[in-house]
Formats: sequence, structure tokens, C-alpha cells
Amino acid sequence: MRFGIHTLDEVSVKGKVILCRVDINQPVDRATDSLKSTHRIEACVPTVEELLEGGGRVVLLAHQGSDIEYKNYYTTRPHALVLSRLLGREVKWIEDVCGPLARQAIRELKDGEALLLDNVRFCAEEQTLFEKNLKLTHAQQAQTQVVSKLAPLADLYVCDAFAAAHRDQPSLCGFEQLLPSCMGRLFEKEYCVISQLMQSPQRPCVFVLGGAKVADAFLMMETVLKGGAADQVLTGGLVGNILLAAKGEDIGQASLDFIRKEGYQEFIQSSQALLERYGDKIQLPTDLVYVQGCAMDIGPNTAAAYQRAIRAAKTVFVNGPMGVFEKPETEAGTRMVWDALADTQAFTVVGGGDSVTATKKYGKTQDIGYLCTGGGALIRFLTGEELPVVRALRHAAQAFPLGGDRP
Ligand code: ADP
Ligand code: MG
Repeated sequence: MRFGIHTLDEVSVKGKVILCRVDINQPVDRATDSLKSTHRIEACVPTVEELLEGGGRVVLLAHQGSDIEYKNYYTTRPHALVLSRLLGREVKWIEDVCGPLARQAIRELKDGEALLLDNVRFCAEEQTLFEKNLKLTHAQQAQTQVVSKLAPLADLYVCDAFAAAHRDQPSLCGFEQLLPSCMGRLFEKEYCVISQLMQSPQRPCVFVLGGAKVADAFLMMETVLKGGAADQVLTGGLVGNILLAAKGEDIGQASLDFIRKEGYQEFIQSSQALLERYGDKIQLPTDLVYVQGCAMDIGPNTAAAYQRAIRAAKTVFVNGPMGVFEKPETEAGTRMVWDALADTQAFTVVGGGDSVTATKKYGKTQDIGYLCTGGGALIRFLTGEELPVVRALRHAAQAFPLGGDRP
């Protein structure tokens, strides 16, 4: 047990049907039916491999895109191909989630075989709009289609989807009501790293917050400043622009229009209190790069100052790029910050989908202390809330104690 949750050390998997929820949600290139990144798939390989090596019959559940990320809404078929290649053995795939085809395929699995079901979010119950509007309890989630159809076929539920641990959805929180459950290796590792980071970071501890998930970034900023985890917060991206506007700096009408268009206008007012209270710890960009009047990257002076702070730190946590790094004319700020992340002596943690993409783009994967697959889950965790999936797994540890029949 760790964090009140069973681990894979406590279970025997031989001959068992194991429902394993992973988060392998990645940007999709629909034109070529392929994935633009495979980071999350690589990350869950150790767990899947361990279950297969142990002789388990592994049924993988995953989502791809969602109602709020519709551009990536897609089947999980390309994922099965990538996973097969990474594992060096076939991962079967079926165009069904919990219907008769899926259930038949599960019944036909043999020891050491894996099957990936189609996108769980093809079931309405797994959608984020459904979650937000209906707010099912975990007991109610156990009665949904996905859980009630699949649980009777299985012996064990393994959750390795830390990146989705902030979601309150049946494939993540429902099975724990009915089956012995534990966390997978990736879940365990990510939970450990961020717990340590929050509880006892080596100081100075610097948070670098940029990107475009403004609400999350401000929530996190407030939490780490209030709680004292952060000695310094370096800001960039849209987050930095909003803080500059809050301070009354001129970032140009086009930038302000963009903030309004994205629905972040209120943050210009609400972040003023944050600046008043923690102004000495929050660093704002001193120069910006504009494209057609819109601030799209931090400038070279800011990037150099951020490099110095990162190199002087003992712990650095990063979520969100410094600018629109997808475009060559506005990538310099992100590139310079990532250069410093690679050569600082500090323990570095990078979280978030686009931040991981930036890490790969600049060839820094080997130089980052920990690349965390979870953006949203990480943020929710850092704000001190108990994650729904953690709560469900803890419930299962109480309701279905495991014998520890593995040496
Ligand atoms: P992560 O996925 O790492 O959590 P976010 O999703 O919050 O990061 O932010 C990444 C996105 O933010 C990128 O697509 C990037 O183009 C965009 N972005 C960064 N800076 C700006 C900016 N100044 N204006 C508009 N978009 C920005
Ligand atoms: Mg993102």
C-alpha cells in the first residue's frame, strides 16, 4: 500500500482478466491516421508489460480527445498499433467499448494477451459535459453501461491514468466500487514525484507558469504562493500577458482583444489581488514579441532573466510554454527557458501536454528530471484537492483488501 492505495506489488495477475485504464490521449493527425506524439503511450508501457509478463489477460481502456477537445476526438486504433510496436507483441483492438463485440473479445483473451477497446468517450457517460452536468456519485458511476457491462467479466481493475486522475468519470472511478483495484506503476511514480515536490521541495523552488490554460494557472499560482511551496513564480504566455494587463502595462489592443475573445477578461481584475499580495515573488515579462500587434512570446531580456532564475534554483516546476512555440517567429522564449531547464542543477518537473511537446521539440527529454504526463491532474493536485480517482482507489483498498499473495 502506498497513499492508502494498493500497488501492483500486492496482486497476482496470472490468468486474471484485468481492466487497465490508461491515459494515452495524444494529438491526432487525422489525414494520416497517426499520432503526433507517443509520450503517454510510452509512459504506460512498463505497467502493461508487467501485467502481460505476469500472465494477465489485459483489457485496456482509454479515451482519445473529448467533447471539450473535439479536434482530437478519435478512435484508439492508431494507439493499438503504437502500443504493439513498443511492447513487441500484438495488442488487439476492437471497434467497440462495452457492447457484445467487446465482451466477446474479452472472453476470448488468453493469458499474456492484451486488447485495447475503442475510445471510452464514444459512450456519453464518459464525456466531460456529462460529468459536469450530472455529477454522478461513484456508486452511480458503477451502474453506468461501461462499468456494469465490463466489471462482471473482470477480476481486477488497475488504474494507470494519473493524467486523468482529476476526472470524475465511470471508467476512472466506477470500477473501484465493484472490483479489487490498484494503481499502476506510472500512476504510482507520478503521484510520488509530485507529492514530494509539494511537501518538501529543495529551495529555491521556482514555478514557471505560462501557456493558455489561464484559470488553472492562476489557481495553481495562488496555491503554491499561499502554501509557500513557491519561492518565485516566473510568468509567460497568456498568463504573463494577463498579469501585465492587471498591472496596467500596455500590451496592445490586439492582445487585450484576444484575452477577451478567449473569455479571460475577468482574470485581469482578479489577478490584481494576487499581484498586490505576492508581487515580490511573481516575475512578469519585461519585454514581449509581437505579431500583428498581439503579444505572442516573452522577449529576449525576459528569457535571459528567467534563465538566470532557473539556473540558480534547486527545484523548478514548469507548466505551459512561454509563447506560441509552434511558430518559429514566437518560439525563442520557450526555447531559451527549456535550454536553461536542461542545464540547471535543479530538479526539474515539466507537466502538461504542450509543455511535454516543447520538451521533445527541443530535444530535452533526457535532461528533464521528471516529465509528467498529467497537466490537469497535476494542477488539481497542486491545489490541494483530493483527486476523484485517488478517492475511488482508496475506497477500493478499504472495500477489497488484497492478500498480498505475491512474493
Ligand atoms: P500545457 O499543455 O503544457 O499545459 P497550455 O495548454 O496551457 O500548456 O498552453 C499551450 C498553448 O498556449 C500553446 O498552444 C501555445 O501556442 C499557447 N500560447 C502560449 N503563449 C501564448 C500567447 N502569448 N498567446 C496565445 N497563445 C499562447
Ligand atoms: Mg495544452
